[in-house]
Amino acid sequence: MAVIGTGYVGLVTGVCLAEAGNEVICMDVDKDKIALLRGGKVPFYEPQLDGLLVENLFRGRIAFTTKVEEAVSRAEVIFLALPTPPTANGSADVSAILQVAQQIAPFLQGDAVVVTKSTVPVGTTEKVKEMISRRTRVCFHVASNPEFLREGKAVSDFLYPDRIVIGVEDEYSESKLRRLYEPFVRQGNPIVVMDIRSAELTKYAANLFLAMRISFINEVALLCERLGADVEKVRLGIGTDTRIGKHYLFPGIGYGGSCFPKDVLAVIRMAEDVGMELLLPVAVHRVNERQHRYFVEKIVRFYGNKLASVKLAVWGLSFKANTDDLRESPALYVVRELLDKGAQLRVHDPVALASARRVLGNTVEYVEDMYGVLEGVEGLVVATEWLQFRTPDFGEMKRRMRLPVVFDGRNLYSPEIMEREGFSYVSVGRSSILQHCV
Ligand code: NAD
Repeated sequence: MAVIGTGYVGLVTGVCLAEAGNEVICMDVDKDKIALLRGGKVPFYEPQLDGLLVENLFRGRIAFTTKVEEAVSRAEVIFLALPTPPTANGSADVSAILQVAQQIAPFLQGDAVVVTKSTVPVGTTEKVKEMISRRTRVCFHVASNPEFLREGKAVSDFLYPDRIVIGVEDEYSESKLRRLYEPFVRQGNPIVVMDIRSAELTKYAANLFLAMRISFINEVALLCERLGADVEKVRLGIGTDTRIGKHYLFPGIGYGGSCFPKDVLAVIRMAEDVGMELLLPVAVHRVNERQHRYFVEKIVRFYGNKLASVKLAVWGLSFKANTDDLRESPALYVVRELLDKGAQLRVHDPVALASARRVLGNTVEYVEDMYGVLEGVEGLVVATEWLQFRTPDFGEMKRRMRLPVVFDGRNLYSPEIMEREGFSYVSVGRSSILQHCV
């Protein structure tokens, strides 16, 4: 088994397949990453992954290389887990996939199955096949196997998936992939086999749907604020309906991360390429952008022209809890906007401070302690829903802050409790409590 690309998807795939007893070799162009991995160190924060990596290295089931030939030449199945970032016009950039397809071609053994695991526009796996065909005479197969893991829960998502989607064009690839995934299938959670194009589109449809739910509740939140309703009550009221369900209905500062924003845009472009104008993803994207802006506007409104002289603290920088991934993080959007408007910022994140330093440089002050960061500030912005932020010591917070004001972009607290504790409290889709002025 070979996995090309050892990012969030590739590494989790490689380690979990090794855990199931396969012999896996992972390849990446990033030499530093490969050196770390060989030493048993995961280059990013992902719960449970370190332990499984060390265990499988120790058992000799997983190895790492920077050489394509070494990875591919003995592999029966080759997963391409490469980045597909957005281009300037929003379409997915599949150049890494196609480049690797060319590189692996001369080294493929007969009957190898090349699987696109990355999220790729419909037709990409066909292009992979074409690229390889031009450079080899051996018989090989292609398949699509989109990944649905969530960062922060990636290992358990991979080990216990809701379903596994496989797109194939022949029985050989189907049986190879079925055998590989058999250990991960629980009763009732199916391997869904389909054609390659449908599998590629399934991934985009899933992400668009989830992003749509977030934009939906965020738009309901705006309406709640205007009409004096409480979005948390409305959320419960609708989420308990089994036809609707509770997942991905949390109002906040908009979705982010390396998938939803790029995949929503890619769907729009994919449709345009076949002469179609899709209305829904455009709306989902616009609502999300407005949600980022709207939250910052609330902070701006509170401080008025004093914003340029206030010092604020920020809790949470990653795009969501349990990851240090800052890609398209709404928290970073808020940080940059506030800096742009002259605010001084002290920031804290349980695991993302090191990655934040690389992108924010010395524009903000980094503080390791969640209470220490509050020292002398005139407000706190809660931007990521980390568990440790949910039940803080409010007394300690007030003792540290110069002004007890909280802008809660994740609705972590109850407005009633915040009022009782003496905070000014601004959240999403609920009435604000304004007890202090600057
Ligand atoms: P990532 O950026 O974390 O990792 C990609 C890896 O590929 C990096 O380690 C990079 O060094 C390596 N790479 C780049 N070019 C290479 C090349 N030519 N040869 C070998 N290695 C190369 O990306 P990711 O988050 O793992 O995402 C990979 C794909 O999976 C994307 O299409 C993404 O949309 C999709 N996906 C991501 C997630 C997620 O939560 N991150 C979930 C599901 C699907």
